[in-house]
Amino acid sequence: MRIGIDLGGTKIEVIALADDGSELFRKRIATPRHDYDQTVQAICSLVHDAEAATGERGSVGVGIPGTLSPFTGRVKNANSVWLNGQPLDKDLADALGRPVRIANDANCLAVSEATDGAGAGAKVVFAVIIGTGCGSGVAIQGQVHAGGNGIAGEFGHNPLPWIDEEEWAYQQATPCYCGQRGCIETFVSGTGFAQSYRFVTGMERSGAEIMALVAQGDAEATKAIKRYERRLAKSLAHVVNLLDPDVIVLGGGMSNVERLYSHVPALMREYVFGGECDTPVRKAVHGDSSGVRGAAWLWQRGEQ
Ligand SMILES: [Zn+2]
Repeated sequence: MRIGIDLGGTKIEVIALADDGSELFRKRIATPRHDYDQTVQAICSLVHDAEAATGERGSVGVGIPGTLSPFTGRVKNANSVWLNGQPLDKDLADALGRPVRIANDANCLAVSEATDGAGAGAKVVFAVIIGTGCGSGVAIQGQVHAGGNGIAGEFGHNPLPWIDEEEWAYQQATPCYCGQRGCIETFVSGTGFAQSYRFVTGMERSGAEIMALVAQGDAEATKAIKRYERRLAKSLAHVVNLLDPDVIVLGGGMSNVERLYSHVPALMREYVFGGECDTPVRKAVHGDSSGVRGAAWLWQRGEQ
């Protein structure tokens, strides 16, 4: 049995998976915010709940909104800031009496979809979470490719390529929280979609409200989603030029915009060097569950 934990800023979810990927147990609790020791205890109690309910012992994988530094062995880049600087894998391993694997939540999405989702059987899967922010990661043969610095696949804070005048003006007016300007995240996250709409129209609307206007044929909203599609296509064309993944999987709130899957691949061809690109762009099959399922699949079939 595999136990996966999705450690989020507001909730912690546990899932227990059988070898065939079927779900044996699931539970969700509120994250003890700003308290590291209680966060560790909460994860351990969820593992124990899963094992009590199923009567089985499981391997444990944890997805976090950050990554483990390969230099210090401690968490970095987590927006749940009380995790940063902590040796979370070691503390959990000590508390649970077994090795614990930890990966970034976007990497968990990539692993989940590569194992039994939209990228099942694909050798290289690039996964993007386009939600409040923009996290992304790579799975190679079903395993996380974290990279020597623990940052592989994170393209959200690369600059948007091939920018036009409007994008230049937007990036001058909208610095990224990371300290740079022009980050892909500020354009293709759900937050960036709404911010960019406000920049052009002066109106404050959520992504869902803008998409409702698109459905009604509103001209400004339609222009906004077309801009968004082109920006996502430019960003992904960069990934194809560099990595050429077999499948690109989208998760997060913006991944529910169905027109992306027909429009973005065609636009990508305009930017990929040589003009040939048949890379499928697919919606995450497991939706919001992909993070927690991917955490469980950090232990692959045959490894236990
Ligand atoms: Zn940035």
